[in-house]
Amino acid sequence: MSVTAVVGANWGDEGKGKITDYLGGKADFVVRYQGGDNAGHTIINEFGKFALNLLPSGVCHTSIINVIGPGVAFNPLSFVAELQKFLDRGMTMPQLRISDRAQMVLPVHVMLDVLEEQRLADRQFGSTKSGIAPFYADKYQKIGIQVADLFDDQRLYERLQALLEMRNTAIVHLYGKDPVRVEDIMATLQEKRAVIAPFVCDTTALLHDAIRQGKHILVEGQLGALRDPDHGIFPYSTSSSTLAGYATVGAGIPVRALTEVIAVVKAYSSCVGAGPFVSELFDEQGDTLRRLGGDAGEYGAKTGRPRRVGWFDAVATRYGCQVQGATQVALTNLDVLGYLDEVPVCYAYEIDGNVVHQFPTTAHLDRAKPVIKHLPGWKTDISSIRTFEQLPKAAQDYVHFVEEVVGCPITIVSVGPKREDIILRG
Ligand code: GDP
Repeated sequence: MSVTAVVGANWGDEGKGKITDYLGGKADFVVRYQGGDNAGHTIINEFGKFALNLLPSGVCHTSIINVIGPGVAFNPLSFVAELQKFLDRGMTMPQLRISDRAQMVLPVHVMLDVLEEQRLADRQFGSTKSGIAPFYADKYQKIGIQVADLFDDQRLYERLQALLEMRNTAIVHLYGKDPVRVEDIMATLQEKRAVIAPFVCDTTALLHDAIRQGKHILVEGQLGALRDPDHGIFPYSTSSSTLAGYATVGAGIPVRALTEVIAVVKAYSSCVGAGPFVSELFDEQGDTLRRLGGDAGEYGAKTGRPRRVGWFDAVATRYGCQVQGATQVALTNLDVLGYLDEVPVCYAYEIDGNVVHQFPTTAHLDRAKPVIKHLPGWKTDISSIRTFEQLPKAAQDYVHFVEEVVGCPITIVSVGPKREDIILRG
C-alpha cells in the first residue's frame, strides 16, 4: 500500500502535472484534493499536449481512477466544458469520480471574483477570476453548496437562497450591480447535472477501500507551498491549503496512509500573480528565461499570462520543501538552463543589511534583496539524456547543489516537458 503526494515547493507551475502523469503509469488512483480550475497542469504524452484545469493528471491513463476529492473547489460548468474538450480530441472517456461532499463553484462566485478584482484596481491580487476566493469564503461561512445538493431540487433551492441572501448584499450595495436570482443558477446547474451524475459517489469510502486493498494512490496538489494561506506569502496566497499535510483531509484518506511526499522543485523560479518574488528578473535576462522556459515559454497554462521569472531561490525552495514535509524532490526544467555560461542562483536574502537564510514573513520579504552566486553552466542540450551519470558534470553539480540546499534527496530529474524526458535516481 502506498499513498504518494505530488506537491509544489515553489509558487506553482513547477511541473507537478508532468510528474503525476509520469508516475501515473504505476498508480491505480490519482486524486485532486484542493483548489479548482484556477490553475493549469501541463502534460505532454503520446496523445499530445493537455493543459488540465480541473481534471486530475491521470486522465490520459485509462486504467487509472481519477478522483475529485471533497476538498476541491468543483465548478460543474467548467468541469463539463473541460471534459467535453478532452473527449473532442478523440481521448477515451477517463474513469472519473467526483466526491458528493465536494462543494461547487457557482457562476456567482466567478462574478464576485471579477467584481472584487475590478474594485481593487491597482491593489488587486492577480486572481485568475475563477471564483475560488469567494467559493472558499462561502464554504467556511457555511453557505456553500455540496455536489450532493445538486440532486435534491428543494434543498438546492434553499441552499442557493441562503447563499444569495448573503452575497447579493455585496453585489447590490458594494458593487452596484443587479441581484443574482436563484432561478438563474438553478437552471444552469440543472442543465449540467445529467453529465455529472454518473461520476458522483462517496469517494472517501472508495479511497478507504482502495487503501485496504493495497492500491497505489497519487494525491496531486495544485499551486505550491508559497501560495499556502497559512505558510505562504499571505495575502498573495491562494484560498486552500497547497500542502501535503492537507492532502489527507482534502482527499478523504487517513493521515497515516500518506507514505511519500514528492515536492516538485523548478530549476529556476516562476510565479503567476502578485506578491513578493525576491529573485525576479526584470531585464532581458528575464525575457530570455521566460522565452526558453517550460514547454513553450513561461506563460500561464490557465490564463496565458506571461509568468514572472527569476533564478532558483534556495531560501524559498528550502522552506517550501520543509513545509511540504518532502521525503523526495523531483527537480524539473533542468534542461532550460542549458543556454547559460554560468547559472546564477539566489542562495540567501539580504534584509536591512543582514544575510538571511530562513524564509521570512511577507512584511520582511518586501525588503529582501537576492544574494546571488554563480554556478558553472553546462551549455548543452540535456533533454535526450536518461541517466544521471550521462549528465554533464556541471549539471550533476547543480542537482547536488539543490539537493544540499533543500536537504532532501532528488530522486527524479526532469529534462524536458514530455513524459519520457526523465531521469530517475536511486
Ligand atoms: P504544474 O501546474 O505544476 O503542473 O505546472 P505547469 O504545467 O503550469 O507548468 C510547468 C511548465 O513546465 C509546463 O509548460 C510544462 O510543460 C513544462 N515542463 C515540465 N517539466 C519540464 C521540464 O523538465 N523541462 C521543460 N523544458 N519543461 C517542463
